[in-house]
Amino acid sequence: MQVTEAILAGTAVSPDRFPKDGLPEFALVGRSNVGKSSLINRLAMRKKLAHTSNTPGRTRTLNFYRINSRFYLVDLPGYGYAQVSKSERLRWGAMVENFLAHRESLAGVIHVIDLRHPPTADDRLMAEWLRAHDLAVLVVATKADKIARSRWESHRRQAEATLQPSRCVVFSAETGAGRDQVWTWVVERLSG
Ligand code: GDP
Repeated sequence: MQVTEAILAGTAVSPDRFPKDGLPEFALVGRSNVGKSSLINRLAMRKKLAHTSNTPGRTRTLNFYRINSRFYLVDLPGYGYAQVSKSERLRWGAMVENFLAHRESLAGVIHVIDLRHPPTADDRLMAEWLRAHDLAVLVVATKADKIARSRWESHRRQAEATLQPSRCVVFSAETGAGRDQVWTWVVERLSG
């Protein structure tokens, strides 16, 4: 996909600040620091659209990135960050679950995991929850550049078998590997 326009159209902590234009939305979920912001930047071919960080657990808002005035990528706060309080974790759960379960314009979920390791317990919980809610899920296994290419397919298969998404692709924000496959899935969802 040719991205001609990519803008942070809004940030929200509550539903009254969500966009009201009804454009389709693709939510990004994943463990804190897994590489969601880097994925967004690589997909959009913008270096600093989404703020990347070495410190996990920073993003507490839902960030709506509007692409080509046609759809949104919605960055949800990362899960599995141990350093937050229980009440904060509960608040995270309520906000994210509410969005994923009730958002009418939600066209699909991009579940970002780390290709190097088997899915974590948190990854599996997230996947189960998404399946129970009958959401179309693309698993993006990122940081592929950090392991040998010869191991990509076996790790991808393991993630696919464990999480059972609609599709599972290998990705690297560093090299751009897998970018076309992610966009293909998005475009399929938009036209289907
Ligand atoms: P987020 O918290 O999920 O948004 O994670 P970030 O996108 O901020 O990434 C966390 C760290 O992982 C940063 O230091 C990134 O540079 C690094 N990172 C993310 N994706 C990749 C990737 O595909 N390859 C490599 N080598 N590093 C990555």
